[in-house]
Amino acid sequence: MTAGSGTLNQNPPAVTPPPCMNLLDADEFRLRGQQVINFIADYWCRMGDYPVRPNVTPGFLRDELPTNAPPMPEPDAWDSALQDLRDLILPGMTHWQSPRHFAHFPASSSTAGALGEALIAGINVVPFTWAASPAAAELEMVVVDWLGKALHLPESLLFAGGGGGTLLGTSCEAILCTLVAARDRKLAEVGWRSIGDLVVYCSDQTHFSFRKAARIAGIQRGHVREIPTSLEDMFALSPAALKAAMQADVDAGLIPLFLCATVGTTQTTAVDPIRGLCPVAATHGLWVHVDAAYAGSALVCPEFSHVVDGVEAVDSFSMNAHKWLLANNDCCALWVKKPAALVAALGTEQEYILKDAGAEGHDVVDYKDWTMTLTRRFRVLKLWLMLRCYGVEGLRGHIRSHVRMAAMFEELVRDDARFEVVTDRHFALVCFRLLSTDRLGGEKKANELNRRLLEEVNAATLGPYMSAANAGGIYMLRCAVGSTLTEDRHVREAWKVVREQATSLLRKMQILRV
Ligand code: PLP
Repeated sequence: MTAGSGTLNQNPPAVTPPPCMNLLDADEFRLRGQQVINFIADYWCRMGDYPVRPNVTPGFLRDELPTNAPPMPEPDAWDSALQDLRDLILPGMTHWQSPRHFAHFPASSSTAGALGEALIAGINVVPFTWAASPAAAELEMVVVDWLGKALHLPESLLFAGGGGGTLLGTSCEAILCTLVAARDRKLAEVGWRSIGDLVVYCSDQTHFSFRKAARIAGIQRGHVREIPTSLEDMFALSPAALKAAMQADVDAGLIPLFLCATVGTTQTTAVDPIRGLCPVAATHGLWVHVDAAYAGSALVCPEFSHVVDGVEAVDSFSMNAHKWLLANNDCCALWVKKPAALVAALGTEQEYILKDAGAEGHDVVDYKDWTMTLTRRFRVLKLWLMLRCYGVEGLRGHIRSHVRMAAMFEELVRDDARFEVVTDRHFALVCFRLLSTDRLGGEKKANELNRRLLEEVNAATLGPYMSAANAGGIYMLRCAVGSTLTEDRHVREAWKVVREQATSLLRKMQILRV
C-alpha cells in the first residue's frame, strides 16, 4: 500500500512553528472550508465507485501510520492530510452512505444534516443549562415539539402538553436515562433497599442496549425478563406473555418496574403492540418506554401511525433522527410525559459556577438535568435547519421513497419461487431467505445454505452489502433500504446479485432442479 503523499509513513521534517498560531483565522477557515466541502462533495459523487466494504485485514492501516504525532506542524498539512484521507483511509472504510449499503439501518445523511453539523462545530457552544446558551435551550424546546408533532406523537409527550423532549446522542442514552428515572421513582415509593427486587421486561428481540442499561442502572442480571416471541406473532411481544411474567414475579415477591417496548426491532422490525401492552403494564405500575430508534422516522408519514396505536399511554418514547430522518450522526430524540421524573433522577444541585441570576425564579430547562452528561452538543441547530430545509412533506417523500424501493425488492423476492419473505415488511427492511428446507432436509441445513448465500452476496465486488437476522431459529438475510443515495437501479442490481449467487450456490450444491 502506498502512503498517499507519504507523510503518514514518516515524521515530517522539523519546522519552526510561528510564534503565535492563529487558530481561528477567518480567511484560513474560508480557504480550508472550501477545500473540505469540495472534498466531501467529491466523496459523495464517487460513492458508487467504492466497494461498500473494504478488502482489508486487521492492522492494515496501523502498519502504515507513524507511531507518534508530528512534533511540529506539517508544512502542507491540509493538502497532504486530505490526500491521505482520500488515498489511504477512505479505501479502508465501510461506506455507510453507499447506495448499495443494505446491511444495517441507515446512518442517513443530507446536505442540511452535514452542514448543520458544520455549523454546530463552528459555533461550538455547550448548552448544559439555559444560562449557558439561552437560545440553544429554547430552540431545543421548540424544535423537539416540532418534531414530536411531525411524528404525530401525543401532546402529553410534548412541552405543549406538559411533557417535553430533549436531544441526546443515542438510543442507548435515552433508554438508560428513562430507566434510571423509573427506578428512582419506584424506589422512592417502595424504599431504596428494594433495588435488588426490581424486575424489568422486554422481548427476546429487544435491542441489547436495554440489557446494558439495566446492568448500569443496578438491576440484578437475573431480573431482566426477555419474553420469548415467535414467528407466528411476527416476533412481537405478547401482552398475555407479559402479564404472566409479571404475575410470576409478583408471586415471587419481586417488584415489576419497567417495560421496554420496541416499534421496529433491530432484527426484523417487529412492532410490539403498545395498545395491548400498556394496560397490562399499568396493572403493576410499570414505566413503559417505546424504543423506536429506527422506525420512529416513519411516523412522519400518517400512514404509519397505526404502528404506535395506543402511544398516548406510554411514559416515554425515543427515536434516532440520525438513523432514517436525514439528521446525520448523532441525534436521538427522547420525549417523556413527566420530565420531573428525569430531573429527579439525573438533576444535580446547581454548582455555584453554573448559577445565573437571569434564570433565577424562571421556569427554565437546564438540559444537563435530563441526561447523564454535563457537556452537551448544540444538536438542535442541525435538526432545526433540516426541518426548515426539507419540511415535513420533504421528509415524508424521503421515507416513502425507501419504503417503495423496499416493497419493490420484496416483490422481486416473492416472484422467485426459490425464495420466501420470512417476516412482514413493516417499513423498509425485507427479511428473506432461500426456501429449501424440504429439499435440504431441515431448518439447520437451510440456515447453513442462507448463511453461505449471504457470504457470497457480500463477496461480490461492487455488489450490495446485506446482513442477517436469526430469530426463532430461522436464519434470514436482511435488506435494509435506507441510504440517501439509493435509487431503484441499486435495488434491482442488488436483487440480481442475490439471484445469481443463489443460482450458483444451488448449482454447486447440486440441488438445483433442472
Ligand atoms: N434500539 C433499536 C431498535 C436499534 O435498532 C438500535 C440500533 O440499531 C438501538 C436501539 C441502539 O441505537 P443507538 O446506537 O442510537 O444507541
